[in-house]
Amino acid sequence: MADEAELDRALEAAHLPALIAAMVHMTGDAGWLRPEWTPVYSPFSPPGDIGLSQEVQADIRVHAKAAIEGYAASGSPKMPGPDTATLRRMMDFVGGAPIPETYADFLIDELAISGKSSKDPQFEQPQLKEAARRLKVLVIGAGMSGLLAGIRLTDAGVPFEIVESNPDVGGTWLVNTYPGCRVDNSNHMYSYSFEPNHAWPQHFSPQPELLKYFRGVADKYHLKDHIRFETKVESLVWDEINSVWRVELRNKDGRVETVEANAVITAVGQLNKPRIPQIEGVGTFEGPAFHSAEWRHDVELAGKRVAVIGTGASAYQFVPEIAPQVASLKVFQRTPPWGLPAPNYHDDVPEGMKWLLEHIAYYDKWYRFWLFWRTTEGFLPMVKADEGWNGPSTAVGAANLMLREMAAEALAAQVADRPDLLANVVPTYPLGGKRAVLDNGVWLAALKRPNVELIAQSITKITPKGVLTADGVEHEVDVIIYGTGFTASKFLSGLKVTGREGRDLHQSWAGDARAYLGMTTPGFPNFFMIYGPNTNIVVNGSIIFFSECSVRYIVGAVRLLAETGAKAIEVKRKVHDDFNVGVDEANKGWAWGSEGVSSWYKNEFGRVSQNWPFELIDYWRATLAPNPEDFVLIKQPEPVA
Ligand code: NAP
Repeated sequence: MADEAELDRALEAAHLPALIAAMVHMTGDAGWLRPEWTPVYSPFSPPGDIGLSQEVQADIRVHAKAAIEGYAASGSPKMPGPDTATLRRMMDFVGGAPIPETYADFLIDELAISGKSSKDPQFEQPQLKEAARRLKVLVIGAGMSGLLAGIRLTDAGVPFEIVESNPDVGGTWLVNTYPGCRVDNSNHMYSYSFEPNHAWPQHFSPQPELLKYFRGVADKYHLKDHIRFETKVESLVWDEINSVWRVELRNKDGRVETVEANAVITAVGQLNKPRIPQIEGVGTFEGPAFHSAEWRHDVELAGKRVAVIGTGASAYQFVPEIAPQVASLKVFQRTPPWGLPAPNYHDDVPEGMKWLLEHIAYYDKWYRFWLFWRTTEGFLPMVKADEGWNGPSTAVGAANLMLREMAAEALAAQVADRPDLLANVVPTYPLGGKRAVLDNGVWLAALKRPNVELIAQSITKITPKGVLTADGVEHEVDVIIYGTGFTASKFLSGLKVTGREGRDLHQSWAGDARAYLGMTTPGFPNFFMIYGPNTNIVVNGSIIFFSECSVRYIVGAVRLLAETGAKAIEVKRKVHDDFNVGVDEANKGWAWGSEGVSSWYKNEFGRVSQNWPFELIDYWRATLAPNPEDFVLIKQPEPVA
């Protein structure tokens, strides 16, 4: 128990709605859900702003302090679990408005109040366990998703191996080391649901902290014993007779080895193949030129004339970091990013908040729930296209227009002293069309620096001396940094996958990658993708949620193999195709699917190949377990010796 001053500090830092929910657990008294204590959020309210007066907040703290002290004084007895009806009321309370009934199971599962969730593998029966032990799964990638697959396969007792081309775990959090790199989803949500970290130093922690977290998880679950580092998967071939994947690996010494696995899971991410734009003259520049994901820490930027090409999420983070060091910085912008006000973007998590997360049972879960609701389903209506919308093309619906106006106003206020910048920093595409960034003012403050120039002219050529723009100006610089993103829609590029009857995965996709629920594709039995086609999100939430759902489903498919004795499971063509028709239709109903928007979420054919176009609850439901009806389960002939 904290001393009184520590407790006061903790309560001062509390997210009060989450604290009140925790108090219901602690006291078993639903009377804490008082109407006058119910939060009133606005779309942009920062975390501390719950729409209640200071007096009311002080009153809540007084009551909470007494309850916590009373609980400790009575020996911290076991807490009575709220019944389902009370949990529902608590959700509405913390969410600040009635949450539709359909979400109850989903949210209760996310909360994992009992300590268990549907995402835990269900392999209890001894026979099933025994069958599972005879399988082998190969996972490609040891980033966030690959580690997760490893954890769940460990839980299920399924032997597995992870192949990772890097020398360490962490994926994107290992590779991206550019200055200012940090997560743009609150860490208390951007972490595995079953591995909370109560010590995140910041709400949106910097890259080294994320890497530390994933390394810690890998150690805790002894995953490194299963990982072959610095090894590349060169090709995968489905051996139909024996129902195994033959996987060719090449280690860092060039040694090639073929391993076999009953099933393969790709966990290779979407955002790791840097995209250098096909601008005339690329490669002729005489100075150092590099991509944000391949940051040249050996290149001294201090005192240099630097060009940055691109103003997406990566540039948005590193430009404010390098601007004070360089002699001059020219930021070449094709399209401005939308910023969503987030005053706490660079803030430390107060020590008091960390104390609450660690010591007050269920506070962490309700805080995560609130973040989850607020930034996922709770936010989606703002980027939904209204049917028959005939308002301005800068928005896709009435709510989207309102959001746009609020965000535009916030941007305009920051450049009130620089009218020359205004026209170039407020986007004309609908908010939610591309990834919006979190705005605590540092981006526009950087652009307003005397040594920084925002250039909204299009680039016509890279020259030996710098960058030539459409107005004929050659901008001479010493260093060029490409913040130009990744070839995200080229799914599994670099992997040669040969499925049933010799079909090549990339030929069958013909550049337009598709999958059923992002995970399986016809002709490729026992082959599963995490973060595959149409499982990304633009504005709503954390990709860890998707990975956890996908892994639950994939482990469910492995379970089906173990349960039925089938050797292979392959999605039916019609199921896959019908699903994709629905996906394409639904994607038109969101800001990111609107015709005027171009982004990495669309592939070369203009199809939204990246995004999940439904609500998160739909993915959660669809991935509870594979429906055997969706698949052909192949019992197979005796293996050939
Ligand atoms: P990005 O969002 O694809 O941004 C690329 C930028 O380069 C855009 O501004 C783009 O302009 C510009 N560009 C591309 N080709 C160009 C050309 N030929 N001439 C001029 N400009 C050009 O890439 P990113 O910033 O690396 O981010 C990619 C994704 O990674 C993000 O959306 C996000 O999902 C993830 N990410 C996350 C974090 C985080 O969580 N902290 C941080 C960084 C990245 P247009 O908009 O006009 O195409």
